[in-house]
Amino acid sequence: MERNIFSKGSFSSKNDQIVIWEEILKNLENILDEYSLKVIKTLKPKLESDNLISFLVPNEEYKDWLIDIVGDILKQEFSKRGKDFKVEVIKKTKENISSFSALISKKYTFDNFVVGASNEVAFKSSVEVANNPGELYNPLFIYGKVGTGKTHLLHAIGNFCLEKDLNVCYTSMNDFTEEMVLYLRSGHIMDFREKYKSVDVLLLDDIQFLSGKERTQIELFNVFNYLFYLNKQIVFAADQHPRNIKDVSERLLSRFEGGLLVEIGIDDMTKLSIIKQKVTFHGLPLDDRIIDYIKDNTSNNAREIEGLILQIRAKGSFLSSNIEKVEQLYDDYCIASTKENKKDKEIDPKVIIYEVESYFKISTEKDKRGKKSLLARQISMYLLRELTNLSLSDISKLFNYKNHSSAFHAIKKIEELIVKDEKISYTVERLKTNIKSHVYNR
Ligand code: ADP
Ligand code: MG
Repeated sequence: MERNIFSKGSFSSKNDQIVIWEEILKNLENILDEYSLKVIKTLKPKLESDNLISFLVPNEEYKDWLIDIVGDILKQEFSKRGKDFKVEVIKKTKENISSFSALISKKYTFDNFVVGASNEVAFKSSVEVANNPGELYNPLFIYGKVGTGKTHLLHAIGNFCLEKDLNVCYTSMNDFTEEMVLYLRSGHIMDFREKYKSVDVLLLDDIQFLSGKERTQIELFNVFNYLFYLNKQIVFAADQHPRNIKDVSERLLSRFEGGLLVEIGIDDMTKLSIIKQKVTFHGLPLDDRIIDYIKDNTSNNAREIEGLILQIRAKGSFLSSNIEKVEQLYDDYCIASTKENKKDKEIDPKVIIYEVESYFKISTEKDKRGKKSLLARQISMYLLRELTNLSLSDISKLFNYKNHSSAFHAIKKIEELIVKDEKISYTVERLKTNIKSHVYNR
């Protein structure tokens, strides 16, 4: 039957292939969210044979994402037209590597890092490493408590080195492990090694999660040695001194200590400067009462400081005359965040998903397929990443996605929206408060 439609012979022409693709895109408009659609629109169909159209994508993550999100729909749309399609990864190492850079957040730079006595050494070492990767301190190991700017510095080094066209990879120990397991399962561990051995600057965060993970330690040790002898830069960050991380092999520990080991913290003076910088950055008035209020109600943790400022801003209750209102409104937030310190990262994922779904009033199966549910899902994934230690693939699995890239793209999208869209930024902050009060007031 379908052969008839195509047997006129014209379908193998490039024009018709474009027509088909445009038709399909039009249909997708009603099904997909804006972001996915935008990405899909960048795809260029390539005619392999009369009945086969292929799409070239830059990397495996992209491919998995594409198949997860639109695989079924595309299959349907193409087969309606008697066509089949496939997705292929462009085999060019350079392209594959460039996918690393997507994991580096542009918002963390050296310029917007507030320097004070307790983080000066870590800051200066990071700047030097970024200026002379592989030459001075290798590895650089930064350790310090939560919210002291470790991740910020890793990304700042990353952004700086990307400017110099180096292959930069940022990943956290949990994601590294998850990824390794995926490659092991699929029997392609060599590809995993190749991938990490191809970088110029390796930025590894949350090294404390190496604890007890033997296989990860072996792989990391190998990657480390390889890069180290090629004078590639390696930077580690952890929430404690490497010697205090339990169950890590001696040979790795000695590597960690073989370069420069620096502690990072936030003292009271630095805290004050950070508050002032963030208050200004987020457009609040530099009012002493607001500054004091933030100072008194947060610990020396920049994330907490930022959280409180965003709360204040989101509510728009920042006029100095309104300081009492501010105080009242955010009492619950502060109780939550002080408690969060003690019980950091113990929030049940179910609570997060529940709070988001209630916020978006998603209860029926029909709601779950609707458009607002996509946004809800993306926000849930973003919050899971922010508030728990789940890896990208754990998060994906919670939503029945096969692969870590689904969570990755969702989180990226929300990160972008928070910057661009005041409403989303408000929603996300509001949800954080809801979740925290749900968790800590019980
Ligand atoms: P860590 O990785 O040590 O837990 P992060 O780097 O994630 O901490 O920092 C938490 C938040 O605080 C981030 O938004 C970061 O930009 C901000 N921050 C931390 N230290 C500073 C600093 N010295 N100057 C400006 N912002 C900071
Ligand atoms: Mg961090």
